Amino acid sequence: MQEWNHALLEHIDSLHAHEPNQDAEQLAHIDTDYSISATDHTADPAQGRADLVKLAKAHLHLHFTGSMTVERLRQMSKKHHITLDPELLNAHPLRVPADRRGWYRFQRLYDMARRCVQTEEDMRTIIDDAARIDAEEGSKILEIQVTPDSYAPIMGGLTPALEVMLDEAKKASERHHIAVGVIVAAARTSHPLKARTLARLAARYAGDTPGTVVGFGLSNDERSGNTADFLPAFQIAQRAGLPLMPHGGELLGPEHIGFIMNNAHPARMGHGVQAASDPELLAQLKHNHVTLEVCPASNVGLGVFENKQNVPLRALYGSGVAVALGADDPLLFGERLEGQYEDARTIHGFTDEMLATWARCSINGSVMSDTYKKPALAAIDQWLAR
Ligand SMILES: [Zn+2]
Repeated sequence: MQEWNHALLEHIDSLHAHEPNQDAEQLAHIDTDYSISATDHTADPAQGRADLVKLAKAHLHLHFTGSMTVERLRQMSKKHHITLDPELLNAHPLRVPADRRGWYRFQRLYDMARRCVQTEEDMRTIIDDAARIDAEEGSKILEIQVTPDSYAPIMGGLTPALEVMLDEAKKASERHHIAVGVIVAAARTSHPLKARTLARLAARYAGDTPGTVVGFGLSNDERSGNTADFLPAFQIAQRAGLPLMPHGGELLGPEHIGFIMNNAHPARMGHGVQAASDPELLAQLKHNHVTLEVCPASNVGLGVFENKQNVPLRALYGSGVAVALGADDPLLFGERLEGQYEDARTIHGFTDEMLATWARCSINGSVMSDTYKKPALAAIDQWLAR
């Protein structure tokens, strides 16, 4: 344990070295929490994992196809006689030097995986797997993100494609004791009018219970398309009472985050991690109660940060902005939800108190009804008092 603690303290020192410009006040606020107590639960990695699985949390950033396990993808490719790039099956297709990562490599592999989803049964299996695995990792709420137009050809239209996902979300919720809602997301690479069609479709199924549409998003390459062109789609969703949770602030910087915040008024933002370099923006996000869905493994997989240590989790924590950790696309980025918490603890030195704070942020950032949130918040208190 001694040796491990020493390694962790070295990590924390190196984090200080990487962030020389960080607001001193922020660091002062969080540094007091970094001592490792005798009751630390992390010295044994297996024990640490088991402990974090018990921490109740919500998973607010997980994409449909990207949620698959490598094994499930392998099975589907065999079933449909599709030969996959071996890179996709090696579990860490984006663990390559930073200059070989990036969006295009990611998108090529993601599209290849999506081609293996060919039947209603495949779609149901993906939702069921995601719910089961999340529940096993301590997630009490899963808001899974789908772009139904990708799967409309399978089901003969947008409406049946979404309905089968909602139907399975409801069934999987009961089966695995987790509340699964669906976020309908338009792709930035599609025409903005298509986004309006999706917003109208999403609005018809709006709700805050399992098997309903709980939000409207905007995904795909952040550098593609013009966010302003999607504002009418956002307004359609908002008028129907659907909270917005577009991607922003992963591949583009603070300016894009500010534009989305001030023009779309989102409840959450997919990523937003680039706000860490702008204390004023962080303060505005906090003031506007925007929850950031931060996905460290995704940031590293896309080459946004060279390694996990450089993802600015401590700056985000120190700012007091609400953060919900997410896995984004574990199929490609290798880690699921619990792994993000584990990295926060082992790489960034998060204490139990800090992990519980972000777990609460994830629950509070969920748009599911209090029926699902209250017991989860109580479970977090219990975990902290264990
Ligand atoms: Zn995403």
